[in-house]
Amino acid sequence: MEPALIPIASQLAGAIHYPGDAMGDAYKFCNQLAERAHLLGVRFLYVTAATKLRLADRKVTGLMCDAEEFVADQYVVCAGSWSNVLLRTVGVHLPIRPAKGYSVTLENPPTNVATSLRIPVVDDQLHAVVTPLEGAVRVAGTAEFAGYNVDINPQRVRNLLGLLSKVLPEQPFNLETAKPWCGLRPMTSDGVPLIGRTTIENLWVNSGHGHLGWTMATGSARLLSDLICNKCLPMDAKPYSPARFLQHKRGMNRDFH
Ligand SMILES: Cc1cc2nc3c(=O)[nH]c(=O)nc-3n(C[C@H](O)[C@H](O)[C@H](O)COP(=O)(O)OP(=O)(O)OC[C@H]3O[C@@H](n4cnc5c(N)ncnc54)[C@H](O)[C@@H]3O)c2cc1C
Repeated sequence: MEPALIPIASQLAGAIHYPGDAMGDAYKFCNQLAERAHLLGVRFLYVTAATKLRLADRKVTGLMCDAEEFVADQYVVCAGSWSNVLLRTVGVHLPIRPAKGYSVTLENPPTNVATSLRIPVVDDQLHAVVTPLEGAVRVAGTAEFAGYNVDINPQRVRNLLGLLSKVLPEQPFNLETAKPWCGLRPMTSDGVPLIGRTTIENLWVNSGHGHLGWTMATGSARLLSDLICNKCLPMDAKPYSPARFLQHKRGMNRDFH
């Protein structure tokens, strides 16, 4: 199924193939999603920091973005690794921390189209993911606890290139085409996302998806919107509920979802 692995075939005991697995370009996905949302009336504010939630009588009454205040019926915090920064402004504390990861994208060698990678490969022993993109290959991996720092550590990039050469040892990649990137994965302490209501009636959270946030993005958004709209749920939402980390405050009589 994957001729690009023939050079390391003697090292492989076997492989597991998931026919339902898919790959794509997250950047293109986000841009097209934004275009469609825009057509439905969504207004995006870029390079704008949400700084503080306002609270009165145990309800959120507004969101401050610098000097401007936005008022809504329901508020959703989905700020990835930074979710806690906003949630803390109204006294909600959830265990979400950044786990830094890296990827390096390299152009496919021009002469190697027939032998270039066709399907994504996860090497569990090496902790590396190698994915084919249009005319390129991306290798991703590593989990580093470096707070909110997003500087690119050259050693981590070298490590990833080393993993790539173990999976595809005979592909003559041009290292000058290598584009390194790093990002922060929002990790929860139990590895399960947080999707649902907080201790505040009109404050919801959709965060903590760790290393699978894109995979789970559409499903999580569907679950959360069904919860907010009080619709019949397509699945049991309890395992994702923030209630597992939040305590009912005395005097409050609110249901968690
Ligand atoms: C190297 C690497 C490879 C990965 N590969 C995959 C993969 O193959 N498949 C997969 O499913 N997932 C993958 N992930 C994980 C995925 O990227 C994350 O799970 C996902 O991005 C989390 O989405 P999010 O929207 O919750 O958070 P983020 O993507 O972090 O987005 C949160 C956004 O909120 C903004 N924000 C935060 N605070 C504020 C504020 N106060 N005001 C305004 N804006 C704010 C941030 O700037 C950011 O843009 C990978 C991650 C890394 C690092």
